Amino acid sequence: MSKFEDTYRHKGLRKKLIDLLREKGITDERVLQAMNAIPRHFFLDSAFDEIAYEDRAFPIQEGQTISQPYTVAYQTQLLQLAPYNKVLEIGTGSIYQATVLAEMGATVYTIERQKKLFEQSKKFVFRDKYPNLKFFYGDGYEGLPTFGPFDKVIITAAAPFIPPKLVEQLKPGGKMVVPVTEGELQRMLRITKMADGTCTQEAFDNFSFVPMLTGKND
Ligand code: SAH
Repeated sequence: MSKFEDTYRHKGLRKKLIDLLREKGITDERVLQAMNAIPRHFFLDSAFDEIAYEDRAFPIQEGQTISQPYTVAYQTQLLQLAPYNKVLEIGTGSIYQATVLAEMGATVYTIERQKKLFEQSKKFVFRDKYPNLKFFYGDGYEGLPTFGPFDKVIITAAAPFIPPKLVEQLKPGGKMVVPVTEGELQRMLRITKMADGTCTQEAFDNFSFVPMLTGKND
């Protein structure tokens, strides 16, 4: 069977995962609907087919991970997407999180520093379905100054600090959701840029991400 088949069994397991996310406290129905529409097993090696709908992170190539569904739902909910928002994502990885944002109608600019992972986006199975999803190879700390400013920024790797250039690339009224390292874990923060350019900060739960590294890796 091709990996790119979404069977009744997959759909059933996915529905259960969505119910679990709701039980865990995710309330934004648009987020839950988008995740219910996207076959997560398409984003994983076929060896994970049986467990793709468990609420767990899994390894992808280059020692990286696909985020846990709860984490994807949590970060996406905190972004408070509005129609046609322009979103910058740092850490394309498996493309799953970026696809959730694209499914919700955002225009998504996603950056990956691992060349091999970036190359995979060229054969992304949903390339035609989401013309609003654009892939970049580069260092996320730099952002994409020529494509900004952005309504929203989402960082999906553990940031040692809030990257200043990404704050610069936020529109007034824009928000950034970023897991910032505090000891062993990361604290999820939401930065809001005010009309006068100053920022406010809210703190949420702790999570565990792979590190946000500097520079590109060919
Ligand atoms: N959003 C991804 C999560 C992947 S894990 C998903 O849904 O699967 C985090 C990713 O961030 C890894 O692929 C890692 O290579 C990438 N990353 C780490 N530091 C980065 C940086 N400075 N710029 C861009 N990508 C980075």
